[in-house]
Amino acid sequence: MKRLVYSFKNFLKEKYPFPVRKLQIHTNLGCPHRKDRTGDSGGCAYCYNPGFSNVENSSGSVERQIRRGIDRSRKQGFEGKFLAYFQTYTNTYADLPLLKSWWHMIYDYPDDIVGLAIGTRPDCLPPEILSALAEISENRMVWLELGLQSAHDRTLELINRGHDYQCFVDAINRVKQYPDILICAHIILGLPGEDLGDMQHTIFEINKLQLEGVKLHHLQIVKNTMFAKWYAEGKIPVFAEEEYLGLLKNLLPYLSPEIVVHRLIGDIQDDLLIAPRWKTVKSQLIQKLYREMQEEGIYQGKYAMDTSDENESKFDFYKQGD
Ligand code: SF4
Repeated sequence: MKRLVYSFKNFLKEKYPFPVRKLQIHTNLGCPHRKDRTGDSGGCAYCYNPGFSNVENSSGSVERQIRRGIDRSRKQGFEGKFLAYFQTYTNTYADLPLLKSWWHMIYDYPDDIVGLAIGTRPDCLPPEILSALAEISENRMVWLELGLQSAHDRTLELINRGHDYQCFVDAINRVKQYPDILICAHIILGLPGEDLGDMQHTIFEINKLQLEGVKLHHLQIVKNTMFAKWYAEGKIPVFAEEEYLGLLKNLLPYLSPEIVVHRLIGDIQDDLLIAPRWKTVKSQLIQKLYREMQEEGIYQGKYAMDTSDENESKFDFYKQGD
């Protein structure tokens, strides 16, 4: 039977004979693209970063957060291992010695931590940082999570990403010099001005770049953001539950079956979320999606046999017919 979606859980099961979960670490590094450090751009239009993680649970030194996170999981009966996940803001936005001191802490927990996941921007990857990650990737799993959101420059400009698509491609080419570093692109579906064809094109670009992973998020309106203002002015539509599941069913068949889907639905801290306020919980929505995919004979990669121009022309045909 065809695998419906190549989930991160599937991937970890293939790699390790024990369960692995992410251990979230908050470093408070800020972001070069926001006003809070040297940048003055105001940041991405959708971003209020505390909304994207449970920062409340991530206070104290990195060492303390690691210890506390492991202890908490053990008390809950979790017997597996961890990926140390540096998630919020831009986790390469610091001097190398400081970053290395944090990243190398995973070596203090050889029985608990199997590797790292580092979230950052494509324009914040200097060579010395990449080579430090490459060194760790020789004996630990290293995921580099890079924000892209869309492969369309007009969208990147609209949402004030502060870089264009070529900047992302250049970053990928630099990271690919170190084949043990695994790359996961973050994508937002439903950005203003994008239709199904635009989003499918972004999926095709991800295929072409042969990334190892992708994180898909539905557009969410978070308090204290530019999007919150536009939403209040009626300028941004958001998805209803069914609409979003329908969109995923339209996109996943075009995503290469080799690409690990780390996430299908976004997560925002409840008290910061303005819209959409869905009634069904995320896990149930995913079960519903899988059920419908099975019933309808849909699976990841169904139409993504290769990443050649021939496939792109099939995609163009599909776009016209939709
Ligand atoms: S989304 Fe990421 S890159 Fe954009 S402003 Fe927020 S922290 Fe910076």
